[in-house]
Order: sequence, then C-alpha cells, then structure tokens
Amino acid sequence: MKSTRPMQGLKRMLLISIGGLLALVVLIFLAWSGLAQHGNAAAADMLLRLDHRSPALASKNVILLAIDDETVSRYGPLPIDRALLAEALKRVATAKPSVLVVDMLLSERTTPTADASLAGALSRFPTVVLATALEIPTHDKQSEWLKPLPEFESRALALGHVHIEPDPDGVTRTLLLAKSNSDQRYWALGFEAFRARMGVQSSLIESANAVQAGTYRVPARTFNDRLLWIHYAGPEGTFQHVNVASVLDHRAQLSIFSGKIVILGVTALGAGDRIFTPFSTGLGMSGIEIHANIFNTLATGAYLIPLSPMAELFSVFAIAALIAAAVWWRQGRFLIPIAITGVFLIPVLSYVLFRRGVIVPAASWIVVQIGASLIAFLVHTLFVRRRLLEAIVGKQDYAFRLQAVAHEIRTPLTAIHASSQLITDVDVPECKKEEIAERIHRESGRLAGVMTAFLDVERIAAGVLKLKRQQIDLAQVAADAADRAALLAQKRNIAIKQDLDPVTVPADGELLQFAIYNLLVNAIKFSPESSSVHITLRSDKKSARLSVIDEGCGIEPVEQKHIFERFYRARQHNGAQPGSGVGLALVKEIVTQHGGSVEVASEPGKGSSFIVLLPREVTE
Ligand code: ADP
Repeated sequence: MKSTRPMQGLKRMLLISIGGLLALVVLIFLAWSGLAQHGNAAAADMLLRLDHRSPALASKNVILLAIDDETVSRYGPLPIDRALLAEALKRVATAKPSVLVVDMLLSERTTPTADASLAGALSRFPTVVLATALEIPTHDKQSEWLKPLPEFESRALALGHVHIEPDPDGVTRTLLLAKSNSDQRYWALGFEAFRARMGVQSSLIESANAVQAGTYRVPARTFNDRLLWIHYAGPEGTFQHVNVASVLDHRAQLSIFSGKIVILGVTALGAGDRIFTPFSTGLGMSGIEIHANIFNTLATGAYLIPLSPMAELFSVFAIAALIAAAVWWRQGRFLIPIAITGVFLIPVLSYVLFRRGVIVPAASWIVVQIGASLIAFLVHTLFVRRRLLEAIVGKQDYAFRLQAVAHEIRTPLTAIHASSQLITDVDVPECKKEEIAERIHRESGRLAGVMTAFLDVERIAAGVLKLKRQQIDLAQVAADAADRAALLAQKRNIAIKQDLDPVTVPADGELLQFAIYNLLVNAIKFSPESSSVHITLRSDKKSARLSVIDEGCGIEPVEQKHIFERFYRARQHNGAQPGSGVGLALVKEIVTQHGGSVEVASEPGKGSSFIVLLPREVTE
C-alpha cells in the first residue's frame, strides 16, 4: 500500500542509523583496546625519531663516564675494582665537574682499601648523587632499598632511584619520578641530578599535576603515579661519552669534564644493563644514556604530555561524531573529502601537537577515522540505494500516470479531431454544424478538465499549491459545494440532503470546497437515479467531521484501499463512468495538507460514506 511506504522507509533508515551507531561504539572501544594503545605508543616513537630538534636539545653539560667493553677487557672483569674506579674519578675530579652521578649500586663491600679509596675519590667532587634501588622482593620479606655503603652515602648530596618502567611492549618511554616502598620514597636519579645541578635541592612542592623544584615545574601527575615521558634526544651516543679506560690510560682530555655533570655507569654489553627505548636498535640503550636523557628532559623543559584519558575519549568520540554528522550533512556530499582529509590530517596534527609537547593517541584516531568512515560509507550507500529505489518507483508511478492521462486525453482529442474535419464539410447542414461545434466545445472542455486535474494533483502533491488558510465557515463552504453539484444531481433526480452544524476551521476555503464538490460529484455519479446523497457536518472541540453518504453502488473492499491513489479507478467503473481517477487523490492531498484525514466506509450494492476529519486548530 502506498501510504505505508514512507513509514517502512523511515523504519529502515532508523534501523540503519542505529546499526551504524552501534558499530561506531564498538569501534570506539576498539580504539581503546590494547592493540590501539600499542599503535599509539608506536606512533609516538615514530614522532620522537622524526623530531629533528632532539639531538640539538641534548645538553652539552652532560658527559657519560662509561665502563664500556674496552674498560672491561682492559681492567675487568665486572664489577670493576673500586680502587681503579677511584683512581679514574680522582683524575676526573681535577677538572672540577659540577656534579658526579653514579649509576651503580654501591651497597656491597669489596676490600676495605678499595672501598676507602672510592669514598675518598667521591669526596673530591663538590656534589655527588648516588643510586639506590629496591631489592627484588621475596615472598617472606618486603623489598628494601639497597643503599650505598654509609661511607659513600655520607658523601652524597642525594640518592636517586634507578628503576625503569618499561611499557607492556618492553620499551621504556616513561619513568616514575618517584618510587617508594612502605617506608621510604626516592626520586629518580636523573631528577636528583637535575636538582643538584640547578641548586634546587631543598625546595620541593608537590601538587596533583606537578612537582615544583624551585622555579622548575615538572608536569608529572599523581593520577598516573607521577609518570614522566622521557623526551629522548636521540639514539645511543647522542650524549658525549668518555670511557674509564681512557681516563686511566691518560688518553682522555680531562678538561672536557670541567663544569659538567658526569654520569658514571656500566655500558659494557656483557653487563646486560640494556634498555629498549624508542630509539633502540637491537641492542638497547645503556642506563647512563637513559639517565642523561631524563636529566636532559628536565633541563630543557621539553616535556611530552599525553592527553588525559578523558580528553582521549572525548577526541575519539569527536572524530566519530564528525564523520557520523558528515553522513547527514548535505546528504553526505562531504563524506569522502572529510574521510580523506582526516586520514592525512591526523598524522600532521599529531606531529604539530608533538612539537608542542602533546602526545596524542594517533593510532586510536586513525582507527576511528578509517573505521567510522567505512561505516559511514556503508550507511550512506544504504541510504542512497533506498532513495534510488524510491526514485525508480516514483518514476514508474509517474510514467503510469502519464499513460493514464494520455489515455484520458486521447478520447476527447479523437472526437475533436473528427468533428473539426466535419465542420469544414460544406455538405453538412447548418444545424448539424452547431451540434458539432457544441461537441467540440464539450470535448475540449473535458480535455482542459483532465489537464487541470492532472496539474493540480501534481502541484498539490509537490506542495507548490500553497494553502491560503483563514478561519472559514465550513458549513457555508459545504453548502456552496452542494449548490454547485445541485445541477448534476437534478439531472439524475438525486436529492442532496444537507445537515450542517456551524463550525469554523483554519483552512483554504476554495480548496476545501473543491474537495467537497469532488466527493459530492462522485456520490451523484455512482448513485442510481432518484436516490439521495447526504452531506452532514458535525464538530467537537478538536475537529470537524464532514460526511458525504450515498446510496450508490458501493466499493469492493479490495478497491477501497486504492481509490485514493492517483488515477486509480475501480474496475467496475473504468469506462462506464467518465472520470480521470484523480478526484479522490486530490481530496486526500488537500485534506492531508490541512492536517486532516479522509476515510471511506462502503458496502457494495448499498452505498458509500466518505468521512473527512479536519482539525480545528493548525497542527503543524
Ligand atoms: P473518478 O471519479 O474520476 O474515477 P476518483 O478519484 O474521484 O476518480 O474516484 C476513484 C474511484 O473511486 C472511482 O473511479 C470509483 O471507482 C470509486 N469511487 C469514488 N467515489 C465513489 C462513490 N461515491 N461510490 C462508489 N465508488 C466511488
């Protein structure tokens, strides 16, 4: 049935939209998943490696004093004899470096003389920062801090923890600025080195979002245990290296240590102290290089701050919403440009924001962007398909109607054609010519009528014929329509009986009169001679109810469904009665545009009632 088609269409579109939205939600969860998080980390690594400024950011103030493979092979094995280390440090101390950072756990005793000489060497540095770490916990014992021997600790300004916090993929991107067990907390070695160097050892103010050391604000938030992204300056070797062997061999130029921060530690591959970083090749990075990078991040203030989880979620939703909106906006015209632009824009935006120190979930964004675009295309295609099908059906409908109109036009046109030929014939008597002229007049009038009806129904359906609404006296309008139909009724000896209660409705009087007239003409047309047609008007608070009731042939139930369709004519009448099959379609269109409805109740052989309901107030 015609009237249910838009409903079905609406339902289907609603289902498609809901399906699309559900798919979007799944997608957003996918963007939240571990896989996407790996992707986000990988994207951040790539941006870090792309960031050409980084090596330039590497502090020239840091020198790594490495116990490297050469040192181990010449002075090894590990651990290197503390007396030898002490000797090297004494030499370095002569160059007056500003801070000595020792990335070695000096918690165990070796020989008394070696330990004493190392303690002596440490005391030659103005500022010393030593390493500490939590021992590996056992099931019966809580892990404790492995601290340097007292003779070393007494010479240190601070102890810093040397724990690393690798991500699930084994890459170390962040550090815990502070680490604690139940009774003590230590700041990271790199942070302690920074504080020592900047002379802000004493003052430390902690807030939820940052740790303030003097005038330096470190944006490490409590919500993620004061995790700080390390802005790696580059791969291994970015910071200046000097090995212990070259110092012991007098090969090193000691003046390069002057005023610098010296970070001492093991880099020898055999030590196994290698950590994977975004810059790592297969070997990983040495601990001291990582501490240098941590110090460097703090010293340059080039912090990398990830979006907060809320902002991340919001951004992912915003992308999904933008693409969902693109399906609707201007009928999806911008869907493809938006989808493609997004794919290119995300990496660019990620890079720009990275340069400003913001780490974005680029992989999640891309997943949502591409996934949402695909869903959007699917939804859009389904919509377009639906519209196309509707257009095809509409076109078929239209072609059918045109055919019907052509058929209606052909009959009068044939009559006019034949008559016009006759009229020029001199043999035809004058009185006959008058009759012919009369026929031409009648048939051309019918022709004009069919055309007007066709155009009217098209215009009303297209909403071109605008209603000229005003408060009208519906009883008067109905009475006028009855007057117009009276002549036709008289011809067939049919009585039009009026029972009209006064009621006003906001309506276009002319169109309504036309509609009522059509109902009356049908009632007369399809009634036997000498019967009656009743027109009644009743009203309540909300609506007016106008009925046109006849005692005619009635309409078969199967036909009743179709009689309001354009150009539909009940089979039994097709050909028997003149008509175009648009009358009721027009009535329905007019009544619907007024916010009302029209219904038929009919029993074949007994008669029909057409009931028009009109609202008494404008409803749209
Ligand atoms: P037309 O009257 O020009 O054929 P309509 O759209 O007015 O076109 O009516 C469509 C069809 O509905 C008619 O052909 C007829 O079969 C049926 N119909 C309309 N009104 C009545 C009626 N009062 N009694 C019986 N049949 C009717």
